[in-house]
Amino acid sequence: MKNIIAIRAGRILTPLKSISPGTILIEGEKIMAVDQSAEVAIPEDATVIDATDKVVVPGFIDTHVHGREGHRFGESPEIAARLCKSIVGTGVTSCLPTPVARPTLEEILDRIRAIRQQMKRDTPGAEILGIHMEGPFLSTADTARGAQPVPHLRRPSVEELHKMVEASDGTIRKMTIAPELDGALNVIHEMIRLNIVPSAGHSTATYEQVMEAVQVGLRCATHAFNGMIPYHHRKPGLVGAMLTCDDLVAELIADGQHVHPTAMKILWQCKGLDRIHLITDDNNWAGMPNGTYKWEDVGHGRTVVKEGLRVYVVGGTLAGSVVPMNYDVGNLALHVGCSLAEAVKMATLNPAVLIGVDDRKGSLEPGKDADLVIIDEEVNVYLTMVRGREVYRANAGQLPN
Ligand SMILES: [Zn+2]
Repeated sequence: MKNIIAIRAGRILTPLKSISPGTILIEGEKIMAVDQSAEVAIPEDATVIDATDKVVVPGFIDTHVHGREGHRFGESPEIAARLCKSIVGTGVTSCLPTPVARPTLEEILDRIRAIRQQMKRDTPGAEILGIHMEGPFLSTADTARGAQPVPHLRRPSVEELHKMVEASDGTIRKMTIAPELDGALNVIHEMIRLNIVPSAGHSTATYEQVMEAVQVGLRCATHAFNGMIPYHHRKPGLVGAMLTCDDLVAELIADGQHVHPTAMKILWQCKGLDRIHLITDDNNWAGMPNGTYKWEDVGHGRTVVKEGLRVYVVGGTLAGSVVPMNYDVGNLALHVGCSLAEAVKMATLNPAVLIGVDDRKGSLEPGKDADLVIIDEEVNVYLTMVRGREVYRANAGQLPN
């Protein structure tokens, strides 16, 4: 007989419903019941977890994450396993590791293969649901490319897309592309056929070019406001399209560094509860001490500084993010004035729907995977469970991540 786990919670945010107090029953990898405590009979032999002074939410799903603790996901399958194990301390239970452009296509394919290898293994930690490619078909313009070096960026090519898909065994779920580039519309069209979410980013596209791409199947905008030319009232561009087109959802880094709180509010007021999904965009300096680091990977030895909640190239642009997902969830609620349940939805159900895994992930419902996090009202993480397996527990008396 499978072990049954019962979690008694002060509050459950499914996140579509708030149940208080509530009980969750888990058998094996799946959720059996989620209801008011009075309605759920706990079997005698169940293992009981007491979270009566806490909140239980679905595990966070990060569809844009590069790495942490000095490493990037594509370095090797072992590194990917290590990162999956470490990331659960931030409440993330599944993710799309996100390789960036590399000097050659072969190096890009190697990164994809390393992530794919880890995906096939069952090691404790966050589940890899697929891959998000941030490039290589991105704008070389200084105003849009962010920290990505020009020589790494490539012209859109259906043939190269096929090579990447093949290296991933068909597990690429999302790709960031600049829709204005020659050949981009063909690539977007092919992505739709291959069930890959096309996301516009690192782009100088005009509003009209974005809308043309939407006609072909563009569905998402990568890290809202970042890697896009600023909004102008006579040239609304990608920002204007993202804010007004209901066919587009938006990724948001809610770390308070990449997007000003007022811009977050504008996004929230334009896109609403169903069309924003939180991402971390975390890179290798997430979880590292403050200090100066050499950027050997994509930065060609440039120097970056990690300082609290941000990391930047000396004298230049932000070099990705270092803030954990649980912080982003709390920060979003704080700055846009939404409820905790709404912020949780943007880190769970919304990304699950976008990449088509909401039949098993993204909410606490009977029959779905038992991916969940026990948090407090400030979104500190106390316990993380992936498919019924406890993968993280904060040390007693110690403030978690
Ligand atoms: Zn990124």
